[in-house]
Amino acid sequence: MDNKLITVTSPLLPNLDDLNEMLKQIWASKWITNNGQFHKQLEKELAAYLKVPYISLFTNGTLPLITALQALRITGEVITTPYSFVATTHALWWNGIKPVFVDIDPGTGNINPDKIEAAITPKTTAIMPVHVYGKPCDTKRIQEIADQYGLKVIYDAAHAFGVEVNGESILNAGDLSTLSFHATKVYNTVEGGAMVMHDERMKKRIDYLKNFGFANETTVVGPGINSKMDEVRSAYGLLNLRQVDAAIEARHQVAIKYRNALRNVEGITFFDDMPGVRHNYSYFPIFVDAKKYGMTRDELYFKMKDLNVLGRRYFYPLISEFSTYRGLESARPDNLPEAHKMANSVICLPMHHSLSDEDVERVLKCIVK
Ligand SMILES: *Cc1c(COP(=O)(O)O)cnc(C)c1O
Repeated sequence: MDNKLITVTSPLLPNLDDLNEMLKQIWASKWITNNGQFHKQLEKELAAYLKVPYISLFTNGTLPLITALQALRITGEVITTPYSFVATTHALWWNGIKPVFVDIDPGTGNINPDKIEAAITPKTTAIMPVHVYGKPCDTKRIQEIADQYGLKVIYDAAHAFGVEVNGESILNAGDLSTLSFHATKVYNTVEGGAMVMHDERMKKRIDYLKNFGFANETTVVGPGINSKMDEVRSAYGLLNLRQVDAAIEARHQVAIKYRNALRNVEGITFFDDMPGVRHNYSYFPIFVDAKKYGMTRDELYFKMKDLNVLGRRYFYPLISEFSTYRGLESARPDNLPEAHKMANSVICLPMHHSLSDEDVERVLKCIVK
């Protein structure tokens, strides 16, 4: 039997000849970064594709988080989730902000809005939720709380490329949203990211901040950083945008196969599509109930590994368990029971655009008894 390694993800790659044609144009122009032609074109095409008014490209998905906090002058304490990739909380730390962890809703993996108010103190200035696995947060409820207490909302939307609720982009929620275009994400520019904003003034301000704060040749408006996307990756991004819909549909088909096969497996649960939501199928997490399934999460994870099928315990450990954060009062496990439960039961199954039927069969064979 073919036993090739099945990886948890695989990057969407543009056609090499097409990329080479674009590289020739970049070489001919000798304009390789600093708001070049492809950078501008990608911002325009992404805004249209994502149905957002304004977008600013970045070199990765972490710097727009750090820059969003700078742009809104967020200080003190920010309410966030421990169930995310560590960059969410690191962005707060890099701004000298104290993260305050709030437990998650076990039905979605997202921050539980009902737990937010109890975590607000006089020092709280913002809420930083994450659309985990691309599943939309309860943005309406979060905005109500933010409005009532005068807080800003910055969404880490790294997983939520192209996600829509009733035809509207989830990226329009809150004050600012950030995206990651890392190689492992649904849409990638090798490394890359973006910030989505509501108006032209904020777009201008963000464009200054990602270029050292330069507003013109001689004016620096603030302590900006350098996180501009270059022309090579912008060109790569333009090509990948043309095939991302097909990639999302291929992921959708894998999700359907996984769900059909796993629906009646005792002790294994997963998320179904939410009504009115256009999902991007960025991840396929399953949750293992060791008592019912007869095997712990880790036993299944390592069994898969032995069979050359790589899952990922994403997100495990929780951010609140890392040495930087575990001393915080809000990081105590008894404050975060649902997050711990999810982190201790999750395996993300292989999920990408190029999984074959045989690959899916092999993954399922590890799990279905
Ligand atoms: C990937 C990711 C990031 C970081 O993005 P990079 O492009 O790798 O810097 C931040 N938050 C979440 C939730 C992510 O999944």
